[in-house]
Amino acid sequence: MMTAKEIRDSYKKFFESKGHAIVPSAPMVIKDDPTLMFTNAGMNQWKDIILGTRDPEPRRRADTQKCLRVSGKHNDLEEVGHDTYHHTMFEMLGNWSFGDYFKEGAIDMAWEYLVDVLKLNPEDLYVTVFEGDPKEGLERDDEAAGYWLKHVPADHIINGNKHDNFWEMGDTGPCGPCSEIHVDSRTPEQKAASGKSGRELVNQDDPQVIEIWNLVFMQYNRKADGSLEKLSMNVIDTGMGFERLVRMMQGKHSNYDTDVFQPIIKAEQQITGLKYTTFEEEASMSSETSSSSQEQINVAMRVCADHLRAVAFSIADGQLPSNAKAGYVIRRILRRAVRYAYTFLGQKEAFLYKLLPTLVEEMGDAFPELKAQQQLIAKVMKEEEDSFLRTLDKGISLLDKAMEQLKAEGKKELDGEQAFRMFDTYGFPLDLTELICRENGFTVNEEQFNAEMQKQKERARNAAAVENSDWVELKAGEQQFVGYDYSEYECEILRYRKVTQKKNEFYEIVLSATPFYGEMGGQVGDQGVLVSENETIEVIDSKRENGQTVHIVKQLPKEPAAQFMACVDTDKRDASAANHTATHLLDYALKQVLGDHVEQKGSFVSPDTLRFDFSHFEKVSDEQLREVERMVNDMIRQDLPRDEHRDMPMEEAKKLGAIALFGEKYGDKVRVMRFGPSCELCGGIHATSTGRIGFFKIIAESSVAAGIRRIEAKTGKECEELLYQLEDTLKAVKSFFNNAKDLQGVIRKYIEEHDSMKKEIEGFQAQAVERAAKQLAEKAREVNGVKVVTAVLPMTPAAAKDLAFKIRTAVEGSLLCVIGSHDNQKPQLTIMLSDDMVSDHKLNAGQMVREAAKFIQGGGGGQPHFAQAGGKNADGLSAAVDKVIEMANL
Ligand code: ATP
Ligand code: MG
Repeated sequence: MMTAKEIRDSYKKFFESKGHAIVPSAPMVIKDDPTLMFTNAGMNQWKDIILGTRDPEPRRRADTQKCLRVSGKHNDLEEVGHDTYHHTMFEMLGNWSFGDYFKEGAIDMAWEYLVDVLKLNPEDLYVTVFEGDPKEGLERDDEAAGYWLKHVPADHIINGNKHDNFWEMGDTGPCGPCSEIHVDSRTPEQKAASGKSGRELVNQDDPQVIEIWNLVFMQYNRKADGSLEKLSMNVIDTGMGFERLVRMMQGKHSNYDTDVFQPIIKAEQQITGLKYTTFEEEASMSSETSSSSQEQINVAMRVCADHLRAVAFSIADGQLPSNAKAGYVIRRILRRAVRYAYTFLGQKEAFLYKLLPTLVEEMGDAFPELKAQQQLIAKVMKEEEDSFLRTLDKGISLLDKAMEQLKAEGKKELDGEQAFRMFDTYGFPLDLTELICRENGFTVNEEQFNAEMQKQKERARNAAAVENSDWVELKAGEQQFVGYDYSEYECEILRYRKVTQKKNEFYEIVLSATPFYGEMGGQVGDQGVLVSENETIEVIDSKRENGQTVHIVKQLPKEPAAQFMACVDTDKRDASAANHTATHLLDYALKQVLGDHVEQKGSFVSPDTLRFDFSHFEKVSDEQLREVERMVNDMIRQDLPRDEHRDMPMEEAKKLGAIALFGEKYGDKVRVMRFGPSCELCGGIHATSTGRIGFFKIIAESSVAAGIRRIEAKTGKECEELLYQLEDTLKAVKSFFNNAKDLQGVIRKYIEEHDSMKKEIEGFQAQAVERAAKQLAEKAREVNGVKVVTAVLPMTPAAAKDLAFKIRTAVEGSLLCVIGSHDNQKPQLTIMLSDDMVSDHKLNAGQMVREAAKFIQGGGGGQPHFAQAGGKNADGLSAAVDKVIEMANL
C-alpha cells in the first residue's frame, strides 16, 4: 500500500516526467488580495498569469497547494467532521498549462496517472462534461467527451449543468467548461445492497461516490456586459483533492481512515481515553452497539484532527488568531474544535495543542515551516484554547442562570435574543446553546435568533460597504513600476474608477508607468502629486493590487488623457526608506542578541516610525534592548552601502543566506537586499546606505500575542525630536531643584524627606484622632439611653473611619455616632452604630447614609453598623449630620 507521502511524490514525479516544472505551494494565507483571504484552489497563485499580467513561462507547472475553504465562495466549515471527505484545510494536487496542451492533453494525462500509474479500477471511475447552455449560446463540450471516449465507455460519461460544469473566475474574466472525475468507492456489499449504479450516484452527495479531480478548460473571457469572447491563451487548470486520492489508493472509505489522519486520531484516543470507530469497525457493528454517542465522539475527533491542521498551518503562515478578518476566521475554526472537544470528548482543558507534536511528526518534513515554528504554534494554540475555555465556562454558567429563571417562570423556551447574546458575547453558536438547553429540557426560539443574526449582518454590511464603479479604460497596456530607480516619471493614465466607502468618495488611478510604491510588506504607500501642463493632482495614498500600484486621488484631472509627471514626495519616502532599512538591521541584531528563533511576524514602516513584531517567548530585557540598539547604531555608523540584486534566482539568494519569511510568496527570481551582514528578500524601498538612517532608538517593547513581541523605534530626525523632548523635560526638572549638579542625589533626598514627613504626619494624625475620640466620647449626649456623638471636623476619610471605630470602642452601651468630615473641600459622612442599635432599634447605617448624603450631593453605602458616603457640597455637612439623627428617631 502506498503511503500518503509516496502518493504525493508520485504525483510530482509523474507530471515532471510530462515536462512540468514542479513549483512550491503558495502560502495558504493571502496578504495582498483584497478579494480573497485564503488560498482556496491551486489556481489562485496563477491569477495574474491567467489574466495576462505576468509572464506565463514555464507553461507547464504542477504542485501540491495548501488550501483552506472556510469563508467566501468556498465554505465547507459546517460539513467538516460530519462527513468524511470535506476538510477545512486540504492539499490540492494541480497541473497547469498556460497556452500549451489543452483538453486532450489534460484528459490523457489525468487518465494515465490514475489508471496506468496508480492502478485505480477504471470501472469505478465516472467523468462529467458540460452539457451546454442555450441561453449563453454554448454547446455541449463534445470535444472533451470525445477525448474521454478514448478511455471510458459512453455510460461512464455524464452531462453536467452550468452550475457544476462551467467554471468562472469571477463575475468577469477567464472561464470555461470543466470535467470532473468521480470515484465510486462503495464496498461490494454496499453496491449490491443499493441496487443503484455508480453513474446514478454521481453528484448526489453520496459519501462513497465522490469527486476527486476537476479539470478546468479555460477558453472564454466573460466581459462586463455578460458576453463571452475567446480567450487569447487557453489555460488548463486542474485540482485533485490529495486526501481523497489517498483514501482511494489505500482502499479506505473515509479520508480519516488514511495515514494522513490516523496518527492524529490515535493521539486523540490516547489523550481522551475514548475510542474512534473506523468505517470498517462501524460497518461490522450491529446497530445496537453503534450508538449515537459514539457517532458524536467520531465527529468530534474528526473535527479536532481537521481543525488542528488548519490552525497550525495558518499560524505557520503568519496568520495568528485575532479579532478581525483572516485572524477571526482562524479563531473561529479553533473555537469550533474546542467546543467539540469540550462537549463530546470531555476535554475541559486545552487539548488541541497536545496533538501538535503528532502533526509535526507526520507533516513536518513536507512542510518545514511547521517544524521550524512548532514552539510558537503550540504556545499560541494553548493560549487561545485557555482563553476560550474560560469564556465557555462563563457562558455556560450564564446559560444555567437563564434556565433557572425559565424554570421559575414555568417557561420552556429560551428567547432568541438571549441565545444571540450567547453567540455574540461568548461565541456560542446556536447549536451549542440548543444542545445545552435540550439536555435540560428547554428549547430555543430559532426564529428570533435568526432575526437578531440578520440584524447584525446588516449592521456589519452597512459599516463595511465599499462600492466600486467600473474601470474606465483610457489606454490599453500594463503598468511599469520604476520606483526602485526614480522618484519622478513621465506617464499617462491607463484607467481609473470611482470608489465609495462609508460615504467617502475617491478615485483609483492606474498609470502607464509609476515611481509610486504601493503599500506592501508593511511599508506604507508613497504620497505625492501628478502634474500635467495645466494642473496638479494630489496623490493621497497608493496601494498595491494584482501586482500594480493603484494611486488614490480625491479628484480626477480635468484632462485625464494628458501627459503627466508622477512625482513622489521624497521627504516622506526617504524617511520611510530609512525606517525600512533600519527594520532590516533590527531584525539582524535581534537574531544576534536573542537567538535564531527570532522570526519576523509583522512589520510596519512609515515616514515617522517603525514597528517590528517577532517571535520570542519572554520580555526582552533592558540590557538586551541596549545591546540591540548599539549593534544597529554601529551598522549605521559603518555607513554600509545598499547591495541590491533585483532578479536573483531563489537558489542563489538562499546561498547568500537571505532571510525569507514564512507565509510569503516568492517567485523563482527574487529581490535581495543586503546591508553588510543583513541580507533579506524584500521588495521595499531602502536607503542608499545605512548612514542615511542617522540614528536608531527603541522607544517601546511589548507583547502583542502569545509568543510575539513588538518593538517600536524611531530613526534620524524623529530621534532628534525625541532628544529635544527629553532635554526639555530634564531642564524643567533641574530648574525645580535650582539646577542642582547632583540632580539624582537631590531628588533622592527629597523623596526620603517626603517619606519621613509623611510618616510623622500620620503619627500626629493618629494621636489627634485618639484625642478627638476620647473627647467626643466624653461629651456624648444621652437620648433615651442611647449615647449620641456628632461632630464636623477637617480630616481625611480614612481618619474619619479610624475615629468612628475608636469612638465605638471608647463608648459603652448603645451608640449613634455621626461624623461629618471634610478634606480639601471634599465632604464625607460617616455613621457608626453599636450592634444593639442594629438588632434592637432596627437602624441601618448603609440606608441612612444614602439618604443623608443627598445634603452633600453625594452617595455611598456600607454595612448595617458602619457606612460612609462622599459628596460634593461641604456646606451641607451639618444638615446631613442632623438628618441622620432625625432619621434615627430616638
Ligand atoms: P465537492 O463538490 O466535493 O465539494 P468541489 O466541486 O467543491 O468538490 P473543486 O472546487 O472542483 O471541488 O476542487 C477540486 C478538488 O478538490 C475536488 O475534486 C476535491 O477532490 C477537492 N476538494 C474540494 N473541496 C474539498 C474539501 N473541502 N476538502 C477536501 N478536498 C476537497
Ligand atoms: Mg465544494
